[in-house]
Amino acid sequence: MQKRAFVLIFICLLLAGCGKRPDETPHRRTVFAMDTVMNLTVYGENGDKALDAAEQDLRRLDALLARGAETSAVHTLNQYGFAEDEETAALLEKAGEISAATGGAFDATLGKVLDLWGFGSGAGDYRVPPDAELDAALAAVGMERVFVDGEEIRLAAFTEVDLGGIVKGYACERMFDRMKENGVVTAVFDLGGDVALWGGKSDGPWRVAIKDPADEGAFLGILETDGGRFIMTSGVYERYFEENGARYHHILDPKTGRPADSDLVSATVVCQNGIWADALATACCVVGADGALALRERLADTMPFDLILITDDARALYTCEGFAPETNNGYAYEKVA
Ligand code: AMP
Ligand code: MG
Repeated sequence: MQKRAFVLIFICLLLAGCGKRPDETPHRRTVFAMDTVMNLTVYGENGDKALDAAEQDLRRLDALLARGAETSAVHTLNQYGFAEDEETAALLEKAGEISAATGGAFDATLGKVLDLWGFGSGAGDYRVPPDAELDAALAAVGMERVFVDGEEIRLAAFTEVDLGGIVKGYACERMFDRMKENGVVTAVFDLGGDVALWGGKSDGPWRVAIKDPADEGAFLGILETDGGRFIMTSGVYERYFEENGARYHHILDPKTGRPADSDLVSATVVCQNGIWADALATACCVVGADGALALRERLADTMPFDLILITDDARALYTCEGFAPETNNGYAYEKVA
């Protein structure tokens, strides 16, 4: 059910020719985890070993953090209001930091509200919840309701966490660790359109095609970037249902408990930190174009990032220096300082 409508970004490895050195054999693997088809490519002689480690990490994190998996720390936490796990605790602390930095637009305690809409675990029973139910579930939302002490996590009554907006960015960070351990120089991970670039290429910068959210076969432009970057996209078209002619999507505004009603169709974040990139993309869809640009300014010193924003009136706002827009595709492009 969480399958994305379509992959948003694809990697232009072919375009760039990959600059192969004799020792740079590509090792490829497709993994299905976190409800996503993931394509991992690692170059060089340790490729297969590094891929084994990366895949293991993906499966481990899926089992640890998925709300639906009965084995998961998050499931235990939501069920009993208490769990003990160092990694989950650290991730929730990070989520709290990001929530504060985004004025609450990113909130990892939306679990119950997501369930009401049918976007939660075991998803599929989509419906528009009655106001009374929403209000009750909203009362249990807020990162101040999560208490972390070392590896112990406690939740205030009725609160449930959902890490769906952050797990892939986190998983990419962990896979970078595996690349480092295995001495890998170049790798690229495509997690259903969210992309992480490890290291450099011998023939210059990476070239990543950013897909057009409105047209599966087209792209918005080519982003030239260094390695060590996470390019994460959130979009309101990724998961939604329709009822009585209205469309309801899966990115919720934590203030209302309803699908975010901003002017953005999608937000792509380019950042050197995977967790932040993932969370910020989600948050930007909540706060809208002006809010996203203001957030970027506010975080310029602590967590610099770039944006490519698509608005519902077909404007494409971007801050990246290395972005070359595609022409004649109906978008009004605007480079923002
Ligand atoms: P992403 O595709 O990274 O934007 O993540 C979307 C997922 O994040 C949803 O399926 C929910 O699990 C969760 N989510 C939805 N709205 C929010 C929000 N405002 N803050 C944090 N997580 C959210
Ligand atoms: Mg996200």
